[in-house]
Amino acid sequence: MALHLVYHPIYSQLELPPEHRYPINKYRMLYEYLEQALKLHSHPQLRLHCPQPVDIAEIKQLHHPDYIDGLFGNTLPAAQMRRIGFPWSAQLIARTLTSSGGTKLTVDLAYQYGLGIHLSGGYHHAHHDFGSGFCLVNDLALAARHALTLDGIDKVMIIDCDVHQGDGTATLLADDPRIITFSVHCDKNFPARKPDSDIDLALPRETTTREYLDAFRGILPLALAQHQPDMVIYDAGVDIHQHDELGYFNVCTQGIYQRDHLVLSHCHDAGIPVAAVVGGGYRSEHQQLVNLHAQLIYSAMDVLALR
Ligand SMILES: [Zn+2]
Repeated sequence: MALHLVYHPIYSQLELPPEHRYPINKYRMLYEYLEQALKLHSHPQLRLHCPQPVDIAEIKQLHHPDYIDGLFGNTLPAAQMRRIGFPWSAQLIARTLTSSGGTKLTVDLAYQYGLGIHLSGGYHHAHHDFGSGFCLVNDLALAARHALTLDGIDKVMIIDCDVHQGDGTATLLADDPRIITFSVHCDKNFPARKPDSDIDLALPRETTTREYLDAFRGILPLALAQHQPDMVIYDAGVDIHQHDELGYFNVCTQGIYQRDHLVLSHCHDAGIPVAAVVGGGYRSEHQQLVNLHAQLIYSAMDVLALR
């Protein structure tokens, strides 16, 4: 048994204006932390994989071709770029293509080995014909559609535990009965308009660790039993943390570990492969964020009995 991780240095290769709120360095720092703390390259049970950029033609099957042409050709109206929240650059496009490829590769690894973790991903605010909230291409929806092309995968569940509701994923997949969207989020936070997912668990601001875990534990097994997915794509966003700068929950670090462990152990026990992505997390102190994202790796190693 081994744990399969997906990473590319391009994830943190994006020049942003000083004071930009997006923690672009957290991907590299998480990778370096895992290398240091777990000896990633020489660890006998950790395998590192490097993704390829996804084909633009494949993205155009999910998103509106005009949006993708405008995005990749830098001809989108300024208001649309402002909604995305990044200045346009060739780096941004390259990073987006590779990150989308990374979530796809994580699905392939989950299919082959039962569990894969992407050290990026979770761009759930990307809609059919526009991007928003730092999200350009919806890698979760793209990877879910990809999963359905695999032999024996007829139903996929996207479990999105980022503190922000998965609005782009919900609208992109609203008419696809083969993909169940399940979002656990804060009821009063971005995005202002929250289109229906198949399952929405909206919790109030200041939700505590115990309240969060009780509510999630009350729904997760039922959701899995009812829909019986052949694969789960899990967004393990850490912006539910009490010190997150864009979240309003009061969940502690151990609570994040317990949440991740809950998802991974339920799926492991039920024989459902899981492709997990690290998702959101916003703190100006990036090393603190790394510690929170590492909880996903630690919970996965514990579920697989690797430490
Ligand atoms: Zn978020």
